[in-house]
Amino acid sequence: LPVIRAQSSPDYVPDSKFYKVEAILRPWRVSQVSSALLKIGIRGVTVSDVRGFGAQGGSTERHGGSEFTEDNFVAKVKMEIVVSKDQVEAVVDKIIEAAKTGEIGDGKIFVVPVSDVIRIRTGERGEKAEKMTGGWSDQSSAAA
Ligand code: ATP
Ligand code: GLN
Repeated sequence: LPVIRAQSSPDYVPDSKFYKVEAILRPWRVSQVSSALLKIGIRGVTVSDVRGFGAQGGSTERHGGSEFTEDNFVAKVKMEIVVSKDQVEAVVDKIIEAAKTGEIGDGKIFVVPVSDVIRIRTGERGEKAEKMTGGWSDQSSAAA
């Protein structure tokens, strides 16, 4: 299977330590995406059931009527993943790899700068709050 990579975005503007990768996905691809992310050590993920309207809305029904709701919005899942800057491209590439069918309706990814992260339990901020124990950065420092 060819590895599909996002076109390169070498510099993010505005610059930030953390970014939220927000992906709108086909619901039946979500488990593939989350297990692919888990394999690279991404453990903090939030998902919501959403409904959307894009190029697929109004186009010919391809899924036998089951994918459209009454008002023609399509059921999607929004996945939000806050990561450090150096993890953004790998996360984006993994999502594309796991979510792409090549058909209209595969979804979109938005990359949003995040000003700060605060862990409620401890009051930690910034890198301390964003880092997940046993996650990506722990795995890569163990390998180094
Ligand atoms: P604690 O150590 O207090 O458990 P934690 O940092 O592990 O804090 P959780 O309390 O496990 O955070 O996270 C609560 C919820 O926050 C998760 O279920 C998930 O929805 C969301 N979440 C946590 N980290 C992220 C992240 N990096 N990106 C997106 N969502 C996250
Ligand atoms: N940046 C965090 C880490 O390296 C992982 C963030 C996440 O799992 N969403 O531990």
